[in-house]
Amino acid sequence: MLNQNVKVTPQDIINSKNVVCEKCDQEGKFSDKFQNVFIIKKISSLLSPNGKEMHVPIPVFACVECGHVNADFLPDSQQSPLDG
Ligand SMILES: [Zn+2]
Repeated sequence: MLNQNVKVTPQDIINSKNVVCEKCDQEGKFSDKFQNVFIIKKISSLLSPNGKEMHVPIPVFACVECGHVNADFLPDSQQSPLDG
């Protein structure tokens, strides 16, 4: 269970460790800078509320060095579709 009463203060954030790019980390490099990018979900016309194919952008964070998106940043049940 999550404790709903815990509040994160700015100081807590400053004291927390930076997330680093897992791909750069694997390659012995270091990157803790990310940029906001989007993955686009194509919703089939069968599922779409208006009966037309839809494109739904989902914001994720990509490493500025290599463009990798950490698995942690992807929506649940996503693997790493941006790799490769
Ligand atoms: Zn990287």
